[in-house]
Amino acid sequence: MTEMTSKIAIKMEDKYGAHNYHPLPVVLAKGEGAYVWDVERKKYFDFLSAYSAVNQGHCHPKIVDAMIDQARTLTLTSRAFYNDQLGPYEKYITEYFGYDKVLPMNTGAEADETALKLCRKWAYLKKGVPADQARIIVCENNFHGRTITIVSMSTDPDARKEFGPFTPGFITIPYNDLDALAKELEDPNVAGFLVEPIQGEAGVFVPDEGYIKKAYDMCQAKNVLFIADEVQTGIARTGKLLAVDHEDVHPDILILGKALSGGVFPVSAVLCDDEIMMCIKPGEHGSTFGGNPIAGRVAIAALDVVKDEKLAENAERLGKIFRNELRKIDSTMIELVRGKGLLNAVIIKPKNGKEAWDVCVEMANNGLLAKPTHGHIIRFAPPLIITEEQLMEAIEIIKKSILAFE
Ligand code: PLP
Repeated sequence: MTEMTSKIAIKMEDKYGAHNYHPLPVVLAKGEGAYVWDVERKKYFDFLSAYSAVNQGHCHPKIVDAMIDQARTLTLTSRAFYNDQLGPYEKYITEYFGYDKVLPMNTGAEADETALKLCRKWAYLKKGVPADQARIIVCENNFHGRTITIVSMSTDPDARKEFGPFTPGFITIPYNDLDALAKELEDPNVAGFLVEPIQGEAGVFVPDEGYIKKAYDMCQAKNVLFIADEVQTGIARTGKLLAVDHEDVHPDILILGKALSGGVFPVSAVLCDDEIMMCIKPGEHGSTFGGNPIAGRVAIAALDVVKDEKLAENAERLGKIFRNELRKIDSTMIELVRGKGLLNAVIIKPKNGKEAWDVCVEMANNGLLAKPTHGHIIRFAPPLIITEEQLMEAIEIIKKSILAFE
């Protein structure tokens, strides 16, 4: 067999795979903790963490062991039967996050779809919204995934163009705008408000302090479900277990994915109390793989790691250092540094035709991987197990790479 090189791997993906991504030209072959290695054995800091799925670090032994052990025993039963891992997992995760029940799915998008269905069912069965009239408020520049219904909520032209017709029933308001929310909440057919506590894909847009709490209170007052999409912000990423914890909010519906498995397996979940969850009856929703025994074992291990290794505390502490250090870099290319915990972004002002993409290529050459979003924003989200010493080393790489354009 031909030995794999970056060049061959890229060529193969290009020829045989759909062109629905535009990756940096780096071919990864191995990961451990905060590091990944390419096929030529060059080592990098991973400052994307698979869009915050690998919060616990690459190939965390405790999580991988749980997966391998379960894979040798029982992998999938479907939900046509009970399995001996699902009940313990459901007990564990509901107690961990403080809800009556969980509905297990696989990807973030599926969990978002599940939350929308739950919200609509609740609207008809409990709130008394007339048939097919339920509406859900969403925010401009949201990102909740890629299905037809989810792109129906999107305001990103790339996500929508030539994918219509779209699913009706959504109202779009500006993010971080309580007046706009108040206005739409006057509609008695509004059933839910779906929001990211920090907009990750939009470029780590952190709303004003108090926004989440006030929005939650306003929804409560109008009997509207507050639905938090914490697929990217959840599981310790922003310096608390959940980003809503910064404002002591307990969402009516909580959506989790990504780091729920530490990035080893697709596991997502929707959590809520019986009043909402029991609106869905057998046959009305599901997934062949949702709630499979491997997912349950993996998620328990992944959530254990978050607590045992104090990942939220680490993210909170190192996040502050990271932003402080980046703000000290004397470069006209850095327009703004923002974020919370270890979910951060730098807005890049192009210089001499060099943009965020060029900075990312330079950082990769220097041993650190990050990816631009929306052309001019670079997100920095390392695994949360990163140490202060590693972080300082990584900051030096970022600094050197940006200063190379001065
Ligand atoms: N919701 C949010 C907030 C996300 O950031 C993402 C992915 O980036 C998703 C949902 C979709 O998750 P998935 O790609 O697993 O479908």
